[in-house]
Amino acid sequence: MSFYAYGLGEITPPEQGGPAFDTHFQLLQTLNSWGFPVVSSVERAQGATGLVAYHERIGALRDSLPFDIDGVVYKVDSLALQRQMGFVTREPRWAIAHKYPAQEQLTTVLDIDVQVGRTGKLTPVAKLAPVFVGGVTVTNATLHNADEARRKDVRVGDTVIVRRAGDVIPEVVGVLANKRPAGAQMFTMPDRCPVCGSAAVREPGEADTRCTGGLFCSAQRKQAMLHFAQRRAVEVEGLGDKLVDQLVDTGVINTLPDLYRLGLTALASLDRMAEKSGQNILQALEKSKQTTLPRFLFGLGIRHVGEATAKALARHFGGLDAVMAATQEQLLEVPDIGPIVAQSIRTFFDQPHNREVVEQLRACGMTWDEGERTAQAPKPLAGKTVVLTGTLPTLSRDQAKDRLEAAGAKVAGSVSKKTHYVVAGADAGSKLDKAREFGVKVLDEAGLLALLDGAGVDDPPNPEKTDDRA
Ligand SMILES: [Zn+2]
Repeated sequence: MSFYAYGLGEITPPEQGGPAFDTHFQLLQTLNSWGFPVVSSVERAQGATGLVAYHERIGALRDSLPFDIDGVVYKVDSLALQRQMGFVTREPRWAIAHKYPAQEQLTTVLDIDVQVGRTGKLTPVAKLAPVFVGGVTVTNATLHNADEARRKDVRVGDTVIVRRAGDVIPEVVGVLANKRPAGAQMFTMPDRCPVCGSAAVREPGEADTRCTGGLFCSAQRKQAMLHFAQRRAVEVEGLGDKLVDQLVDTGVINTLPDLYRLGLTALASLDRMAEKSGQNILQALEKSKQTTLPRFLFGLGIRHVGEATAKALARHFGGLDAVMAATQEQLLEVPDIGPIVAQSIRTFFDQPHNREVVEQLRACGMTWDEGERTAQAPKPLAGKTVVLTGTLPTLSRDQAKDRLEAAGAKVAGSVSKKTHYVVAGADAGSKLDKAREFGVKVLDEAGLLALLDGAGVDDPPNPEKTDDRA
């Protein structure tokens, strides 16, 4: 592993004898003089003309650089101005990337696979001869759906142009028609699901073809579990696609609630599963049982219900039973929910097996805060700005943020004089120093929990004292 230095993490402040810098350029030169590798093509430029000229110069050198780049970054040189400009969430106002066009390469299509997604959607995927493009080796490119596959008319054996930019999914830009082998067959969407054999149907007016197998289809079951377990849903750390493949393929689990009935013996019986990692999964599952209503609703994987809709539903109805019982008309009263989404929610909860899954998850001990309805819930932290830093002992960053926001607080990315509280965990960095510098109240997790309970809003526990207790 090698790196180029381009900034500072935590350093001793100048007033305590640490180094002081006025400009970014000066900082880089100093780092270089100390022996850290610094990119030699850094320059100071003036105005838009200077920046564009630099962008063009580096663009011409792009292929001869000893590393891949997808653009250059312009930064305000004066560190005082950088501090003054600050951040919008995680994005600095004093730096901006100027990208180069996506890179393209030629390769051949080895095969066209059809993959089955969580909602049964069939996606044709071109399997490519490995090709290095945009900094990674690409072996797959999505063809999206039947129409798109037909429009591009990609065939097995074709030579194609592949493009990849940043972290975007690679795509086939076009086919070199003169290189098509004789007898290459046009791709057609199968009328059966390649995984479970159920009928694959394209509804009138829809672009997508779907497997009708529902939870009978193991591909859909696997995707449903991964969706439920993802970080933005109920978050089961360590439950990735390889493990879910094994669990479903070996018949250890068939439904979502089966996850919570897993034992160490069953886990340890899987290939490559050490007892320690088995225990970690069980712990992560246990931890995931305490969630929030929006995360749970999102995790169920109801079609058209993303995170924002799940939050809106929780806010409007306040509890799961009310959501499950809501008529289409009642659902339409929720801000931003239209007829298609309302219908989709109603259809989901009208299916007996979906209600069964919800009941079983509850029976397995899943709980969430009911009664989060904003109109009625007390907002002990309304108008307060809170900054999170470091790792808290039990709450994840997202959990802490969710709970603060539910209590009416605004969670900000950087500390200012207007910050009311900084919640600091292990390895807290410069935000903690800033909090001390500005005299902002610093809390640990226990202090945060007390704050959320509505206790001590005006008199938060002394952090030094709680540190001693810990
Ligand atoms: Zn299927």
